[in-house]
Amino acid sequence: MALKLVSRSQWGARAYRTPNGATPYNRPRRGVKLHYLGTAYSDRAHDKCDDYVRQIQAQHMDGNGWSDIGYSFVVCTHGYVYEGRGLKRRNSANGSTSLNEQDYAVLLMVGSSGLAKPTDAQLDGARDAIEYCRQSGPAGDWLGGHRDGYATACPGDVIYAWVKAGAPRPAAQQEEDPMAGITKQDIYNAVWRTDLVAAPDSAGDRATNKTWQPESYLKDIGNRVRSLTVTVAAQSAAINALAEKVGSGADTKTVVQAVEKAIADAVVKVSIDVNGPDAS
Ligand SMILES: [Zn+2]
Ligand SMILES: [Zn+2]
Repeated sequence: MALKLVSRSQWGARAYRTPNGATPYNRPRRGVKLHYLGTAYSDRAHDKCDDYVRQIQAQHMDGNGWSDIGYSFVVCTHGYVYEGRGLKRRNSANGSTSLNEQDYAVLLMVGSSGLAKPTDAQLDGARDAIEYCRQSGPAGDWLGGHRDGYATACPGDVIYAWVKAGAPRPAAQQEEDPMAGITKQDIYNAVWRTDLVAAPDSAGDRATNKTWQPESYLKDIGNRVRSLTVTVAAQSAAINALAEKVGSGADTKTVVQAVEKAIADAVVKVSIDVNGPDAS
């Protein structure tokens, strides 16, 4: 997932008040705390999301008297990440100055009623925001919610359980088929270009046969495995026959005949084992 960042100018943020709104972090952040709205919330079309973010900012600045929107980032149900105070600037959402200093604050636009469960896109967006804070904040690996160290229900049980589980990507994303969209021709091209097995017997055919398919490649490998199995069995039988005859006083001709018979028997037996009795 690529971060879908909506900058302050893109969502029409008001300028923050100074000096408080500009207070930088003076030590590394431990990690990221998540929040929810804690009020009724209903989902809306994405072109209405920035209205809601501006409304939160107005409430924080005009209602609470803060210098800016309290959160570092705000994630809408469509997975967009709105820049609140952003990186480097201390948030005012975690409950106290020391808590604000400790972790970034990321809000998921989810209510305590109405839309009360985050969407998959939103969880992806929250994960993007966490990674952005970690990489560019910087922030450490710690993850939690507003309720950690402060008496509040925020961010609700659903988001809290998710963040405490390590904020994993939604299952649909994790279980994406790694072969999706890969055609037989792609496999052919990859195999042909890299030539993973040195010169199989039919390499000449592959070079000239325009209808050569990946299945042919697998057949090449199968044939080579069979041939190796027979060779190993024959060598092993030869060694056993030698060990038996040498030192028994038998003459050279007898030893050679015994070894040849052992090899022939082993080859017949292994050929039947690997090819089946009807194989030619
Ligand atoms: Zn909160
Ligand atoms: Zn949205």
